Amino acid sequence: MIFVLSGPSGSGKTTLRDRLLKEKALKKIFVKSISFTTRPMRLGEREGRDYFFINENIFHSLRKNKRILEWTRYLGYYYGTKKDLLELSLKKGKNVLLCLDFKGASRIKKLYPKDTITIFIMPPSLGELRKRIEGRSLGTREEEISKRISRAERELKNVSEYDYSLKNINLVQAAKRLKGIILKRLLNKSEE
Ligand code: ADP
Ligand code: 5GP
Repeated sequence: MIFVLSGPSGSGKTTLRDRLLKEKALKKIFVKSISFTTRPMRLGEREGRDYFFINENIFHSLRKNKRILEWTRYLGYYYGTKKDLLELSLKKGKNVLLCLDFKGASRIKKLYPKDTITIFIMPPSLGELRKRIEGRSLGTREEEISKRISRAERELKNVSEYDYSLKNINLVQAAKRLKGIILKRLLNKSEE
C-alpha cells in the first residue's frame, strides 16, 4: 500500500515518517520514498536521505524521460517523486511512505486509487507552525518563513479531501495515532 503524509510545511510529516520507520516492525515492511528537489539543502539535511538534490536542468530532463511519477512547484523550487523507487517497492511487495503536498497526494491517489491512503498532518496552530519552521532551520530568511506560512493557510483548506487527518501536538501521541491508522489499513487490506 501507499501512505501519503501531507499537510503544511513544518507540520511534522518528515519527523513522524522517520520516527515510524525507526521501528523494527515497520522498517521491515516499508520503504521511504525520497524525492528529487531543486531546493538548496538545509542545514542538517543529507543527500539521498532527505532528498536527491538536483538542478533544474536535470529535473526537467528526468521529467521528460518519465523518471518522475508526479511533481510540484513549491515556493519557486521543483519537487518530484522518483518513479522507479516507488514502482520497484510495490513490485517487491513493500509498502511506501511518502511526504507530499496536496497536488502530489491527489495525483498518487488518482494513479493508485485502491492502494493509496492519504493522511493530513495538522499543526496545533499557525503560531506553533511558525515556531517549528523557524526552529528547524535557524537563519531561514523571514521572507521564506512568511511564504511557507501563507502557503500553509491555503493548504489547511484541503483537509477534507484526505482519508484521515491528525493534529501533531505531542509527537509521541501523533506518532501513535499515525501508526494506528497505518496498521488498521494494512490489516484491512490483508483481510480483503
Ligand atoms: P515537515 O516535514 O512537515 O515540513 P518537519 O518534520 O520538518 O515538518 O518538522 C518541522 C519542525 O518541527 C522540526 O524541527 C521538528 O523537529 C519539529 N516538530 C515536529 N513535530 C513536533 C511536535 N509534535 N512538537 C514539537 N516540535 C515538532
Ligand atoms: P520542503 O521544502 O519543506 O522540504 O517541502 C516543501 C513541500 O513539498 C512539502 O509540502 C513537501 O511535502 C512537498 N514535497 C516534497 N517532495 C515532494 C514531491 O516529490 N512531490 C510533491 N508533490 N510534493 C513534495
